[in-house]
Amino acid sequence: MSTTSLQTPDLVIDGRAVPTSERLDVRNPATGAVIGASPVCTPEQLDGAFAAAGCAAASWRADLDRRRAALGSAAAALVGAIDELAPLLQAEQGKPMREARLEVKAAAYWLGHYATTDLARETLRDDGKAIVEVRRRPVGIVAAITPWNFPLLLACWKIGPALAAGCTMVLKPSPYTPLSTLRMGEVLNGVLPPGVLNVVAGRDELGPWMTGHPAVRKVTFTGSVATGKRVMAAAADDLKRVTLELGGNDAAILLDDADPGAIAKQLFWSAFLNAGQLCCAVKRVYVPTALRSELVDALSAEAERVVLGDGAARETTMGPLNNRPQLDHVRSVVAEAVGAGARSTNAGGAVPDVGHFFAPTILDGADDTMRVVADEQFGPALPVIAYDDVEDALARANAGTYGLGGSVWGQDEDRAAALAERLECGTAWVNTHYANDPGQPFGGLKWSGIGVENGRWGVETFTELQVVHRARG
Ligand code: NAD
Repeated sequence: MSTTSLQTPDLVIDGRAVPTSERLDVRNPATGAVIGASPVCTPEQLDGAFAAAGCAAASWRADLDRRRAALGSAAAALVGAIDELAPLLQAEQGKPMREARLEVKAAAYWLGHYATTDLARETLRDDGKAIVEVRRRPVGIVAAITPWNFPLLLACWKIGPALAAGCTMVLKPSPYTPLSTLRMGEVLNGVLPPGVLNVVAGRDELGPWMTGHPAVRKVTFTGSVATGKRVMAAAADDLKRVTLELGGNDAAILLDDADPGAIAKQLFWSAFLNAGQLCCAVKRVYVPTALRSELVDALSAEAERVVLGDGAARETTMGPLNNRPQLDHVRSVVAEAVGAGARSTNAGGAVPDVGHFFAPTILDGADDTMRVVADEQFGPALPVIAYDDVEDALARANAGTYGLGGSVWGQDEDRAAALAERLECGTAWVNTHYANDPGQPFGGLKWSGIGVENGRWGVETFTELQVVHRARG
């Protein structure tokens, strides 16, 4: 993308570009510059998108082989468009270009994975009296709503399984990052039949219009806990199915045989990837008291090495927060923790003059009463909490309403795994964090979500079981 050309994508409805009379500015979070304008979908245009998804549904659901082939082509189309999509994603989201390219590649990899989906029916009984089979029917038209941290990848976590299952979709990105998703929609519509994937954008009010729309049979939502609850309430009236991927407050527990120096780099980037704006980032670290200062020093050294800046610059290793409310939130929870006695050992605090920058910050001496520990900071600040009894650390890690991910770090892998299994979360990692794969189900316990995405389990959430019972004789 040329940084000087204003990006003005249209809605993508029924395979066509649909212009809107109103547009919203989209800004680069590193510079504040307007880089494009999002279309603002009207209720009538949204009706049109759902009508198109309805028209496409019958032939799309009828042929799994065709769907597989189309998803394979979709993956190839994304890879082919990487030089256009990555700069657009980088400019509106803020992440370093290297990470933007990795996100496009991962999005394509995810779509490609679902090109091998199998939805075989299962025979429960086949004898002289009856044949009883269980089959999976596509649930119907899907409303998909995504956040601003990984707009392309998280959209493909929905597009791949839903389309593989035989559903058609209307997708809505966040108003902060609409441009790359709309462009991805155009690219994918080059290989998908019209109406199978429609992409709309607008203000936050568009979300409730979608979740309340009578054509929708399933809402798949990724975003905050607060919005997730609203989505579920909106879906209840019509008993729409929901999958909710919500916030996380992942704990990492170091055991007493962990080597802080050896794991510091991996642990640091498990917390600070995408400037900490990752649902399943490490959001708090519990460390034995005897290892605390060694760990804080090692993490602080990693923070010093970060090159904070505009993600478009080759040397940048960490970009800004995506938007002003998020920056204000991180500033506030860190200031509150420091006011309550945590020691901020950040990388000197030097940040560029413009943009939503926050220097990577390690908070030594944090405790569970601080908001930065008890809630999701979703930014580049990592509290370190010392413990004396590992059972106590586990109880503190499991306290609270979140349950997305968690990890245990130590040289005795079996001992670490035994503790990891006792974490109350959807994915428990050992000596790593946020590692993921399209074949692996991903979801949260408690307020971190309902249902899972990815793997055959993720595909199944876009289906409903039907029993076909044939009597014989
Ligand atoms: P958000 O909840 O503010 O917005 C998410 C999306 O919902 C946006 O597209 C927004 O326009 C839309 N929306 C807003 N109000 C709506 C409503 N009433 N009905 C329907 N849709 C509505 O979240 P965000 O700030 O964009 O993203 C950050 C949050 O997302 C964090 O809490 C993070 O942990 C979470 N997240 C979770 C996962 C996961 O897989 N569990 C992944 C990424 C991000």
